[in-house]
Amino acid sequence: MRQLHAENIAKFVEPFQVKPGSHVVLGRDFDPAYKAGITNKKEGVELLRQGIELLADYQERLAAQDTYGVLVVLQALDAAGKDGTIRHVMSGVNPQGVRVHSFKVPSAEELDHDFLWRYAQRLPARGEIGIFNRSHYEEVLVVRVHPENLDRQKLPKEAKGKGVWQRRYREINDWERYLVDNGFRIVKLFLNLSKEEQRIRFLRRCDLPDHNWKFSASDARERERWDKYQLAFSEMLSNTSTEWAPWWVIPADRKWFLRIGAAAVIAQTLIEINPRYPKVSDEQRRQLLEVKAELEAEAPKGAAPDPFQEKLMKSSADGGESARSDEEYE
Ligand code: AMP
Ligand code: MG
Repeated sequence: MRQLHAENIAKFVEPFQVKPGSHVVLGRDFDPAYKAGITNKKEGVELLRQGIELLADYQERLAAQDTYGVLVVLQALDAAGKDGTIRHVMSGVNPQGVRVHSFKVPSAEELDHDFLWRYAQRLPARGEIGIFNRSHYEEVLVVRVHPENLDRQKLPKEAKGKGVWQRRYREINDWERYLVDNGFRIVKLFLNLSKEEQRIRFLRRCDLPDHNWKFSASDARERERWDKYQLAFSEMLSNTSTEWAPWWVIPADRKWFLRIGAAAVIAQTLIEINPRYPKVSDEQRRQLLEVKAELEAEAPKGAAPDPFQEKLMKSSADGGESARSDEEYE
């Protein structure tokens, strides 16, 4: 059975990457039903478990190191599985270290600012993973497919003429480069759904009473603009997959595979950052030993001076692991 671990994950995610500078035609270049040859459900379940475990481990180190931040950008057509991906992929991660934000139709206040303003307000801090459920890329997707959105943005005449999309690509690339240069890595995931699978998922929303709330007649109408969206996504991928912040196209027709793919790409980014627990300085160590001696001296009559140390010694057979992971001390 295949394994996902720090040594082989780069190879697993490689087919998803949009090579910087390449010209993408979605329908030709990426298969929404790809599943990396995984045929056995048990293998899929196990790979997702391993991906989630890697994420949890590295996220803890990211938070402890407090030097780098990670921004995960999720873009997709309706019903591709953005919400489910967040729910499953982040299920093992400490909620204190993750911040999710969903971007909707911009407010009047947001429209009164430059187009990147509202996204800049929601960036993760160092040590955090920030997730954008929709993102600044809507500014070259829905705004492009529905140009009336651009009219609402109150831009001066010279800023909305011909060339506006090329200019936005450049501005987004520059903004992302600035973030990366300052310690914020960006993981951009496009969840790639086929038209037929979207049809089936919309029908599911109609047919299952507890999914009716997800159904939106306007989503179904957006489907009529499928080709326009495919083109806008292809252009976005071609123009904004950069060396510093590449796009990853994750096959989305099988939800279980989508989750493995997304977990693997995010984990791979954390592995590259390789965050480490901070080392204590000689001075901190000296203080630590001083306090330890004081605490040991406080032991009540008959009690071991350091009961935890005793446990550690007893579990030396497994390198102290059983003592370290003992719930009592977590
Ligand atoms: P949902 O994600 O289903 O809650 O829907 C959010 C809606 O907000 C979608 O219809 C998006 O197209 C829309 N939206 C998100 N960002 C923008 C934007 N920058 N300009 C216009 N509409 C947007
Ligand atoms: Mg929606």
